[in-house]
Amino acid sequence: MLQTSIRQQVFITLFISLFLISCGTAKKITSSDDGKIEIAILQMNDVYEISGVDGGKIGDLSRVATVYKELKQENPQTMMVLAGDFLNPSLVGTMRYEGERIRGRQMIEVLNAMGLDMVAFGNHEFDISEADLQKRINESKFEWLATNIQQVCGNKEYPFYREVNGKKQFLPESKVMNFTDADGTPLRLGVFSAVINSNPVDFVHYYNADSMVNLTLQDLKPKSDVIIGLTHLSMEEDMALAQKYQSVPLIMGGHEHDHMYHNVGKSIVAKADANAKTVYIHRLTYNTKSGATKVTSELKVIDEEIKRDEATAAIVDKWKKVLEDQVKEIVDDPYEIVYTADEALDGRESSMRHRQTNMGSIFAAAFLNSSVKGAEAAIFNSGSVRIDDQLSGAIMAIDIFRALPFGGSVYDIEMKGSLLKGVLRFSEKEKGKGAFLQTSGITGSNGDWMVNGQKIDDDRIYKIAITDFLLRGLDIPFLTEKNEGIMSIDKPVSANDLRSDLRKAIIAYMKKQK
Ligand SMILES: [Zn+2]
Repeated sequence: MLQTSIRQQVFITLFISLFLISCGTAKKITSSDDGKIEIAILQMNDVYEISGVDGGKIGDLSRVATVYKELKQENPQTMMVLAGDFLNPSLVGTMRYEGERIRGRQMIEVLNAMGLDMVAFGNHEFDISEADLQKRINESKFEWLATNIQQVCGNKEYPFYREVNGKKQFLPESKVMNFTDADGTPLRLGVFSAVINSNPVDFVHYYNADSMVNLTLQDLKPKSDVIIGLTHLSMEEDMALAQKYQSVPLIMGGHEHDHMYHNVGKSIVAKADANAKTVYIHRLTYNTKSGATKVTSELKVIDEEIKRDEATAAIVDKWKKVLEDQVKEIVDDPYEIVYTADEALDGRESSMRHRQTNMGSIFAAAFLNSSVKGAEAAIFNSGSVRIDDQLSGAIMAIDIFRALPFGGSVYDIEMKGSLLKGVLRFSEKEKGKGAFLQTSGITGSNGDWMVNGQKIDDDRIYKIAITDFLLRGLDIPFLTEKNEGIMSIDKPVSANDLRSDLRKAIIAYMKKQK
């Protein structure tokens, strides 16, 4: 059910009415008009990296900019959209520039340069603070659709807004794009959105996606010839929308990171690969006489065959240099291949926060390996891994920084078996959250834990390699330097000590495995 107050409903209706006035101006039909129009839409989704991935071979938004320019030359009735998840996570976003953390500023600059038309909010847009998100919205030159979300202010909800020259402009719940082709055939394309409520934050009120889409469709129908979706939902939710609203020929979605294309009756749900490894090019034709709509889609691989657009590349490279300069303070060569993962290392939040993954195992083994006190086991919180992706094939030093952007160091501690058990019990209870632990040297579950195959003894002292973050008590409140169960702590003092940086410890360990 739609959880809106009456006041809210009135506000939405008012807002929609205001919006009605500014949109949907009918175009004059000329005598040469053939009654048919074709438009093209370039779709990206889940783009965290502005530059190429897999050693730069694939992706890179300056290549996407070239594809878009070529499409526009072919057909001026072309638009470019992004179906959510682009402000976070990324390594460059965690770094500091001009006195503050970058937090998606690099992405907005690049998307502005590319001439992006429209975005849907993704769940990761709310990872950054409310103040940072506002800055990003203000900096952007494209439209943001907020169909099922509002900003919480005190105990009220208001539309998200963009502030330009001190003036607030509310972000729309939907948008009508007006196209006219060379012979004068018009098309009014209505676009709605919806975002998944997968990691809710306090400053966002999430309305039921289906209810809001339903309401928005009613609003869009009288002023649109064709209505499409630009969403950030699970495939299941997108397919359910497509099934229910068969008059919507196309839903361009995101959230899943692998390309998918499903025909649902007369509708299509399409998602491209994350990080612009691919983009979808949808060609939509509309017949003004019959009202018939046809969509054909092409999944385009973004690779080295495509020339980089110079203007966009200059901005991509500017941020790449900011990133490299900071990584080089810790390792000599950010692009050195340090490991080959025949089986993809799983750093997805949906995996890491629920179970031990192969990425968790190799990282914890590296911390254990970095110990100078003969640690028997290692533990770290899965929330410190921020890549929310898998790493496969040739892994470069910089990829480890992408996985652990906040760094930190490894401590050698001695702790009582009873405390270790308490920590493991807490981790099990926190399954699904960042406090869930990844370990090395520890097996078992549910109270029956073992260190190197031996049942944990409450009174024995164990030597454990632990990350400094975990010992701050932020994830596991009782796990601090002050806990009586901790008998000694040894911290790295020199930059030559592998323990001085988690990434350094992992890179050194991975290189030994090659
Ligand atoms: Zn997402």
